[in-house]
Amino acid sequence: MALRIDGKAIAAALRGEIAAEVETLKARGITPGLAVILVGEDPASQTYVRNKQKACQEVGFYAEQIDLPATTTQEELLAVVDRLNHRDDIHGILCQLPLPRGLDDSAVIAAISPDKDVDAFHAENVGHIMIGDQRFLPCTPAGVMELIHRSGISVEGKHCVVIGRSNIVGKPMAMLLLQENGTVTICHSRTKGLADICRQADILVAAVGRAKFVTADMVKAGATVIDVGINRDENGKLCGDVDFAAVEPIAGAITPVPGGVGPMTIALLLKNTLTAAKQQNGVE
Ligand code: NAD
Repeated sequence: MALRIDGKAIAAALRGEIAAEVETLKARGITPGLAVILVGEDPASQTYVRNKQKACQEVGFYAEQIDLPATTTQEELLAVVDRLNHRDDIHGILCQLPLPRGLDDSAVIAAISPDKDVDAFHAENVGHIMIGDQRFLPCTPAGVMELIHRSGISVEGKHCVVIGRSNIVGKPMAMLLLQENGTVTICHSRTKGLADICRQADILVAAVGRAKFVTADMVKAGATVIDVGINRDENGKLCGDVDFAAVEPIAGAITPVPGGVGPMTIALLLKNTLTAAKQQNGVE
């Protein structure tokens, strides 16, 4: 039976380490501050933002939520970002995406100061990730790397297959695996022979967004299987992209959903905010 990678426990350990660093920073008069902008009333976005606020408070950050109506104009939103860019008590800024219709996600990402871009979505930070000198790690892929490291799994020389090529998960995931000397294959909706490629993977990362997409016949015995997907199954129950019950007996290690990658994403957001606060205050 596979090692079940406990993202909840690993995220809690990481949050504990962050909280300890916050104590040290506070003793020097620095409180890391994160501002989260929420435009409109999408229930899923409201839940995500609430969870981020709660996590910030638990590690001792200053957290500010800016709620804007769905009728906010592009200019008004950019003006809010600009004010946050200039505030000394705010070290990290994120705008919950997707934005309501009529507002431009990419313009808002571009407007956030790269120094405060704790989601690592700004083109400048994406470029840093590409050349391997990143100041902020892309939260979900970096969360996956933490799970791999803290489970004692090495990436070097392994064949890593990433299913999905989005800017927030698939592409940066592939770059982080490459940086650790994995041999990386990126698969996507137009890939031919997907199951064959997946069967060659020592490390298989699924970021597709389709319930039970990765079936047992796509997994090599002993492989590490990381499930980034967040879906609902036919009974409305939360599930990942991997058919967990069928794949667990074959895999060497596997992340469950929930309780795998999900808790790591917020923990890495906290880590990035801590990094931003240190950088903006000249702390090593
Ligand atoms: P996306 O829709 O932007 O990308 C999905 C990718 O899957 C695309 O690149 C597409 O090419 C690929 N794909 C689609 N159908 C395919 C097929 N038949 N064969 C092979 N590839 C196919 O989604 P995303 O933002 O990258 O998110 C992926 C999943 O991860 C979603 O379920 C999302 O909810 C979840 N997610 C989880 C976290 C977390 O914290 N755990 C964070 C971000 C996203």
